[in-house]
This record gives sequence, C-alpha cells and structure tokens, in this order.
Amino acid sequence: MLTNMKIRLDAMRSLLYETTRFVDISKVYEEVMKGRKLEKEERMEMKHYMKLANVFTPLIKMTASEACNKMAYDSLQIHGGTGFMKDFPIERIYRDARITSIYEGTTQLQTIAAIKGVTTKVFLERIRVYESEVLEDNTDLKKVLQAMTSEYEEIVSKVEEVDNSEYLDFHARRLVEMAGNIIMGYLLVLNGQRESKFMKSAKLFVDLIRSENRERFNYINNFNIDNLELYKLKSSELIES
Ligand SMILES: Cc1cc2nc3c(=O)[nH]c(=O)nc-3n(C[C@H](O)[C@H](O)[C@H](O)COP(=O)(O)OP(=O)(O)OC[C@H]3O[C@@H](n4cnc5c(N)ncnc54)[C@H](O)[C@@H]3O)c2cc1C
Repeated sequence: MLTNMKIRLDAMRSLLYETTRFVDISKVYEEVMKGRKLEKEERMEMKHYMKLANVFTPLIKMTASEACNKMAYDSLQIHGGTGFMKDFPIERIYRDARITSIYEGTTQLQTIAAIKGVTTKVFLERIRVYESEVLEDNTDLKKVLQAMTSEYEEIVSKVEEVDNSEYLDFHARRLVEMAGNIIMGYLLVLNGQRESKFMKSAKLFVDLIRSENRERFNYINNFNIDNLELYKLKSSELIES
C-alpha cells in the first residue's frame, strides 16, 4: 500500500511539474507581450504551450485530487482505528482531502475541459513527443506504453465514430484517465532516465496502469450504446429507492 502511494505520488508530481512548465512558458510570453510585439515564431510557440496548458491543467486537477483522496483513504487504513481518532494528523488530512475534488472546479467539470485534449488529439501529440524521447535502454517500458497508446487511439476512434455527444460524455472520464495514465507513465520513464531513483516508480506505475487502462478499454469496447437509456433514472425509481 505504501509503495502504491509512493508511485502515485511520483506520477502526480511528474504531471504537475510538466503542467506548470506549460503554464509558465505561456505566462512568460504574456509578460513579454506587455513590453513588445512577439515575433511570429514566438507567437506560434506561445499558442502551442497555451494549447497544452489548457488541457493539462484540468487533467492534473482531476487526477491529483482524486489520487489525493485515495491516498488519504489508504493512509488512514494503515493507521487502523487510531487513524480515525484525533490523535494523529491523518484524521484531519482525510477530511481535508475530500474537498480537493470539489472546489476550484469539480472532477466532473475538469473532465468536461480535459476531454478536449482527447478530441483535439493534443494529448496524443504530446504522447508522441515523449515516446520519441525515451532512450533504447528503456525499450521494454516503451513497448508497453506504445501498446497502451494503440489501445487508447483505437478506443477514442471507436467512440468518435459513433458521433453521439451523450455517448462521448458518458465515456469522457475513462478516456481522459487513459490518456493521463499514459502521459504519467512516459513522464516517469523520462524522469528515470534523468535520475535513476525514479525508474522503480516508472516500472511499477506502468505495471499498474496497464491493467487500469485495459479495464477501461474493455468497458468501452463492450458497451452497448442502447444501454445509455438504462442509466437515466426516472423520478419514480428514485422515490422507490
Ligand atoms: C471549503 C470551501 C472553500 C471554497 N472556496 C471558494 C473560494 O475561495 N472561491 C470560490 O469562488 N468558491 C469557493 N468554494 C466553492 C466551490 O468552488 C464550489 O463548491 C465548487 O465549484 C462546486 O460548485 P457547487 O458546490 O455549486 O456544486 P454544483 O455545481 O452544484 O455541483 C454539484 C455536483 O454536480 C456535478 N456537476 C455540476 N455540473 C455538472 C455537469 N455539467 N456535468 C457533470 N456533473 C456536473 C458536480 O461535479 C458536483 O458533483 C469553496 C467551497 C468550499 C466547500
């Protein structure tokens, strides 16, 4: 449990730093623009990083706040009954964690913003950049991430072919999380290339997300669109239950 928490934390940090990098570069250009007109290449670069920041920001907000809840839950579990009492800070951390997926935009609203990264292919383009940066030493991990990327592309195409916004909304979170997992997997591998201590987290995280993404792939792949209607509760059903 502790190891799983540690690798999730490393993954979230990688995504957070990557997102802040995109935001910082865009903001620097905004500051420069106050003093002078940007050159054509600078304008293009600013647009590029703004596009990335616009979809990575909701991605990190939803991913990190949900992970924070899971980590606080597991951490309290490790403490046992004493974790539930006020003797240790985890009792407070557990309560505080719960708001993170609600304020500053709920997870559901972050998903609505982040799905644009899926439909505009911004996530996929960035994944291709990371893929090109992985060194030969890490071919095994790269192969797993490439296979996951192919599955992701396949299932995104399948959802898009249906061309039904309700169907896309229904699967949006699953698609965003699949992309986020691949991105964090690559970022951890790239961190591991720069600093070997991250390689352990990279290996374990990629193992973990391979099965997570497969589960989402299977769910979407086997989903019968006619069943969308079954998810619409009538008020009489709500009163009954
Ligand atoms: C401790 C605390 C501090 C806060 N601090 C601030 C602050 O400093 N400044 C500030 O402006 N606000 C602040 N807020 C408000 C906070 O930002 C809102 O609570 C948050 O944005 C959610 O809005 P809501 O509570 O109105 O929920 P609602 O918008 O009513 O949402 C209820 C539920 O419906 C879901 N939902 C809503 N719309 C959709 C949709 N289109 N699709 C799918 N699901 C949807 C939501 O995800 C949520 O699960 C704070 C709240 C708390 C509890």
